[in-house]
Amino acid sequence: MSVHATDFIAVEQLLGAHNYAPLDVVLSRGEGVWVWDVDGKRYLDCLSAYSAVNQGHCHPRILEAMIAQARRLTLTSRAFRNDQLAHFYEEIAALTGSHKVLPMNTGAEAVETAVKAVRKWGYEVKGVPAGQAEIIVAAENFHGRTLGIVGFSTDPEARGNFGPFAPGFVTVPFGDPEALERSITPNTVAVLIEPIQGEAGVIIPPAGYLRRVRELCTRHGVTMILDEIQTGLGRTGKLLAEEHEGVEADVTLLGKALSGGFYPVSAVLSNTEVLGVLKPGQHGSTFGGNPLACAVARMALKVLVEEGMIENAARQGALMKAGLESLGSNLVREVRGRGLMLAVELHPEAGGARRYCLALKERGILAKDTHGHTIRISPPLVIAPEQVEWAVEQIGESIRR
Ligand SMILES: *Cc1c(COP(=O)(O)O)cnc(C)c1O
Repeated sequence: MSVHATDFIAVEQLLGAHNYAPLDVVLSRGEGVWVWDVDGKRYLDCLSAYSAVNQGHCHPRILEAMIAQARRLTLTSRAFRNDQLAHFYEEIAALTGSHKVLPMNTGAEAVETAVKAVRKWGYEVKGVPAGQAEIIVAAENFHGRTLGIVGFSTDPEARGNFGPFAPGFVTVPFGDPEALERSITPNTVAVLIEPIQGEAGVIIPPAGYLRRVRELCTRHGVTMILDEIQTGLGRTGKLLAEEHEGVEADVTLLGKALSGGFYPVSAVLSNTEVLGVLKPGQHGSTFGGNPLACAVARMALKVLVEEGMIENAARQGALMKAGLESLGSNLVREVRGRGLMLAVELHPEAGGARRYCLALKERGILAKDTHGHTIRISPPLVIAPEQVEWAVEQIGESIRR
């Protein structure tokens, strides 16, 4: 590493809060699946900013849309209307089959928005007694970092010493529909889950789980909220991960790749009247739905579909999974995933995933360890077959005993 790079790291260490433990690579440029560090070394990005750059780094068409819109109009606030918001509503509603859209900025804000909306819906439509609304969530969930959200996290790191927390959340094991059914009461307004738990280590629930959750929600008059902030927008080889089980959530949360990594854009999509309970003055955001965000998101969705990225994720994901499965390293406990949302879980004897991520970095691949023993592999959806093969080769070399 050059003096240049170590200087950047030293300043970060000195002046930045240490709320992340990044790999020591200082990036300065990106294009498609590639990123370059300040010394000009190239890496294949196998994290994609936690799936925010599904469309690849600095996608030229999104870049053009952003620059063009930035020249015209960036922010009006929702006190006035702008000429991008209606287009964004129409296009995202048509693509996802939703009836109502509420634009926000970060993923966590979309989650908070959904929680507020379903509570209000519970009191005003379902008839839950005041202050009694319950939302069922899954153990090991990850929905963001706000106070409201970490309050229903089960991760001691995420919640430790941040309390007191808001009541009204009930935790059940992920992937267990019977436990979920037992937890439903007349005061249950919603179930909030990820279709695949990404941060927990790419945990795929048993087949049929989402369908069972859908049935239970319908039968008990409970809103089904799917957090597709990470699984959505092509990552798993479908536009939305719910499609793998042929279900439709009542409320779907999108973020991350909704902007192709250019700008924070999130959205709450609803196919019921849940969002209809929100009236002027009851919820909002200065930046939510701004014209720059809308223009960027419109193009981010357009290229995802027009350039076949969703189909490519399915194809390259299958290729990559098969490649990883055939590595035959005795350090590997399991390869799992769907589409290009993949993970290699190592045996504890391998000594933790981070050392292999460091080794991969030396070989020109950036990947992220999670939960000690798991390496997440989630490259941009524009990856080509020869890049998949190269990545699998490098991963194989790095985890050979
Ligand atoms: C990243 C993520 C969030 C939070 O998004 P932010 O933009 O970081 O607030 C919420 N849910 C899931 C499933 C995520 O992966």
